[in-house]
Amino acid sequence: MHLVTPVILAIDIGGTKLASGLVAVNGELLTHQTRATPVTNDAEVLWNSLTDLVDSVTAEAPAYLGVGVGCGGPMRWPSGEVSPVNIPGWREFPLLNRLRARYAGDRPIDIHNDAIALAVAEHRWGAGRGIRNMLGIVVSTGVGGGLILNGQRIDGASGNAGHIGHMVVEPGGEPCACGGRGCLEQIARGPAIAAHAIKLGWLGDGTGIGVAAGARDGDPAALAAFTRAGRAVGTAIASAGALCDLELVVIGGGIAQSGSIFWDPLRSAFSEHAGMEFVQRCRIVPAELGYLSGLSGAAALVLDDVL
Ligand SMILES: [Zn+2]
Repeated sequence: MHLVTPVILAIDIGGTKLASGLVAVNGELLTHQTRATPVTNDAEVLWNSLTDLVDSVTAEAPAYLGVGVGCGGPMRWPSGEVSPVNIPGWREFPLLNRLRARYAGDRPIDIHNDAIALAVAEHRWGAGRGIRNMLGIVVSTGVGGGLILNGQRIDGASGNAGHIGHMVVEPGGEPCACGGRGCLEQIARGPAIAAHAIKLGWLGDGTGIGVAAGARDGDPAALAAFTRAGRAVGTAIASAGALCDLELVVIGGGIAQSGSIFWDPLRSAFSEHAGMEFVQRCRIVPAELGYLSGLSGAAALVLDDVL
């Protein structure tokens, strides 16, 4: 392919998949490639897998305007040393500097938490268009979040604001990979839903997709695990809404695409826990930008710097 449209090189790094693509300045994803995130404790194996993927994308458009990078949190920001909870091979890995040296040169490059990137993309191009106060949530291998308040992206003191996955929804609950316990992520992340279903007696396919199919077929163990996850997310949203006076919550990620088995308990728990009128008024909707919204989000991070 030979591209003449101005494009941004987008890179999205998650616990399950690595993705890279070229995004036009209007948000359109023109081309992309993905591969599974290697399961390894070797930082360089992860890096080599990522650069193989990105090299094949840049071969199609060496003239990109800038580079946007979304990565699972937490990270040191804006310096961009990453320690993703769901990628144990990278701890304090200098991702931004390594990517800058290899792909950016003099061009702008920005990195942020992948859920903050999703929030920015949904605000710019998706379900949050025209909204000034919103929370974007990703429910997938992990659970992440990003805040837009008064129309501005909220970074926080260290760039880690919005980590709703590590809000405590079960005081004294199970230990979380983050070092805390009772976190939302420990209940609502895909692998946790599957593990809980198995604990309750689910004997079928132990992946998130398999358990979701079982829940839709009415299997009590699979259904109970999704109900627990949906309720935990709805409860956390009620707290976040009270804290931030939100107009809208947008939820993306694979688990959020499971339908009523997830959304019905989420909405019930939200209604039960949201007391004040300004909290109840918050709308909760699915993300519009779909499976590869992480790439749109990564591109959105750098858009203001290249235009
Ligand atoms: Zn945690």
